This record gives sequence, structure tokens and C-alpha cells, in this order.
Amino acid sequence: MKLLVSACLLGVGCRYDGKSNQIPRLAELMKKHTCIPVCAELFGGLPTPRVPAERRGNKVINRDGEDVTDAFVRGTAEVLRLADLYGCKAALLKERSPSCGSGQIYDGTFTKTLVEGDGLTAQLLKKKGLTIYGESQIGELLDERPFFFSI
Ligand code: SF4
Repeated sequence: MKLLVSACLLGVGCRYDGKSNQIPRLAELMKKHTCIPVCAELFGGLPTPRVPAERRGNKVINRDGEDVTDAFVRGTAEVLRLADLYGCKAALLKERSPSCGSGQIYDGTFTKTLVEGDGLTAQLLKKKGLTIYGESQIGELLDERPFFFSI
């Protein structure tokens, strides 16, 4: 299927520190799905490297105290546009990111404290009806089923 994928999971060095989060089973994923790389933070005009940011309620604030919400909103709009253009029904997104995280994100204090919640991009993709997978769930996208299903 056509799958939006966080660009950093595909090996692009677009993280705040210029590194990537390339997933170990990338070749298998590429064989099975058409992966469309997206990075809301770059699409919104932020540079790499950049000061890390975390969500605080509806705002996104970087570690220097600057409000970078507008860039995150702009970038998310571009990701939503690509989701429409390609007809994507699912996305594989980097866990815990203020853009891509789904289910759990950092709490805005830059102390590595996790709270329930979604990154801005994940939140709006979910609202649009896409199924969101984190990198720890990649097995589901590679059709790994629990043993009892294969009997
Ligand atoms: Fe990766 Fe998403 Fe952060 Fe871009 S915005 S670096 S794709 S987690």
C-alpha cells in the first residue's frame, strides 16, 4: 500500500541534530509498500540541525523558549496535502516526536518525561482517518501474524 513514512525512519538526516532514525528492516518495508517520505518540521521551513522542540498543549515550543507552532502547522498542512495526493490510508511515523509521535510524546519540559498524546502531524493524520503505526509496530506492516493465525 501507499504509506507515508517519517523521512528520518528512511535514513534521511532530518532530525533536530542532523541524524536519522533509520529502521533496521527498511529493505523489507520498501519491497512491500510504496513509501512516501515526509518531514513536517522541514516542510514547515525549519532548518537541520535545529533547536529541539516539544509540544505544550496546542503550542510547540523549542528548548530556547521560542514558539515554533507556526512552522509545525505549515509543515503538517503539507504532509496532509501529500496524504491526499497519494491517497494514503496509513502512515509509519517516528515515535515520541512532537510532530510524528503517536500515543506518547514528551511533556514539554525537556526532561525526557513522556505523557499521553500525539505529535501535531500524527494528530491531524489520525483525524483524517489514517491508521498510524510507530516504528516499534513495523512487524504489523510486514504482515507478521501471531503464531496462532498461521495454524
Ligand atoms: Fe523525523 Fe518527523 Fe521529526 Fe521529521 S518531523 S525528523 S520525520 S520525527
